[in-house]
Amino acid sequence: MSRYRLTPTPAQEAVLRDHCGHARYIWNLAVEQHSHWHPGRAGAPGYLEQCRQLTQARAEHPWLAAGSQTVQQQALRDFTQAMAAFYDPKNPAGRPSWRKAGRNEGFRIVGRGPQWDVRRVSRHVGEVRVPKAGWVRFRWSRTVPPDAKSYRVTLDRAGRWHVAFAVIPAPVPAPGNGEVVGIDRGVAVSAAMSTGDLLHCPALTGREQTRLRRLQRKLARATRGSNRRRRIKRAIARLKARETDRRKDWADKTSTGIARRFDVIRVEDLKITTMTRSAKGTRENPGRNVRQKTGLNRGILASEWGLLVRRLQDKAPGRVQKIKPTLTSQRCSACREVDRGSRESQAVFRCTACGFACNADVNAAINIAAGHAVTARGGDGVTRPVNREPQLLLHSG
Ligand SMILES: [Zn+2]
Repeated sequence: MSRYRLTPTPAQEAVLRDHCGHARYIWNLAVEQHSHWHPGRAGAPGYLEQCRQLTQARAEHPWLAAGSQTVQQQALRDFTQAMAAFYDPKNPAGRPSWRKAGRNEGFRIVGRGPQWDVRRVSRHVGEVRVPKAGWVRFRWSRTVPPDAKSYRVTLDRAGRWHVAFAVIPAPVPAPGNGEVVGIDRGVAVSAAMSTGDLLHCPALTGREQTRLRRLQRKLARATRGSNRRRRIKRAIARLKARETDRRKDWADKTSTGIARRFDVIRVEDLKITTMTRSAKGTRENPGRNVRQKTGLNRGILASEWGLLVRRLQDKAPGRVQKIKPTLTSQRCSACREVDRGSRESQAVFRCTACGFACNADVNAAINIAAGHAVTARGGDGVTRPVNREPQLLLHSG
């Protein structure tokens, strides 16, 4: 997990619990206010109105006023964003619901500088400043992104505290060269570019994988509740966190490079892609990469691809276009002829009409580069709103 373990003193823990309680109270108040409301009916208060009500509530309730205003305001902001996600047809999120004590406890702090800061005090120890709690120690298990804008503190059901730092990836300026690139989700690699580049997302090394398997076997044999079992679990979690960090780091660097080189970045529309590329496909439209994309490998490739596209949208807002994936894998990128037979194998495309041969994913990527953006009602199907909650972007240490 991309989080750091917080180790508050008992006095600090009491403050953190208060923050959690206040955040939950404010959130539930907002849920309550919205529960009698549905779209098309006026009356549910917006964020600003709720902020005004918060000021009022703080004036009336000393216990609320004694808490951190930042914590309470952010709880409202979180709720507003959760509602926006709920009403966004492109992002089918569940309706924000009542929060129970002891479950999903946490709060968010923004405003680095006046409200919070982070520092490293020794090799394995860092400190984060929490309003009203002062500097709280955490295990410096990896580098904290220097441009972190906010953080979230959470308490899990086992009573452990964590802190996760978030940064909004800075957009990369367009090169202004008018160049368009197409990127396709790959068969054996994470992605292929119309330039012929194949993008490999790093995984665990062979030695690390061996170690992981050995740990997993040990875990199966370890007695429940034993210290040994806890140690093994921790070692497994560390290895997995290392892999996650590596993937995120890769997506971060790769997307920056692409955003810097090209003005327009075209990818297939994912929603359509998943339909047309379901494992077997149809006779007219046979699924690609049936064998390679089944099972675990398919899941990994899909998550790497998803991560890369999200990062591209962060780095090149307004410059990522989604393309309808019509026959991109069967069309010859040289002569435009469509023939299933041209797909010589999973990896090789050889045109039955003109003889053009190419890596199958690169051929598809060239077709994607030549494609037209899917036009959605009310938008160009290009980007997500920019004023969303900062995405967690954590760097490996
Ligand atoms: Zn051809």
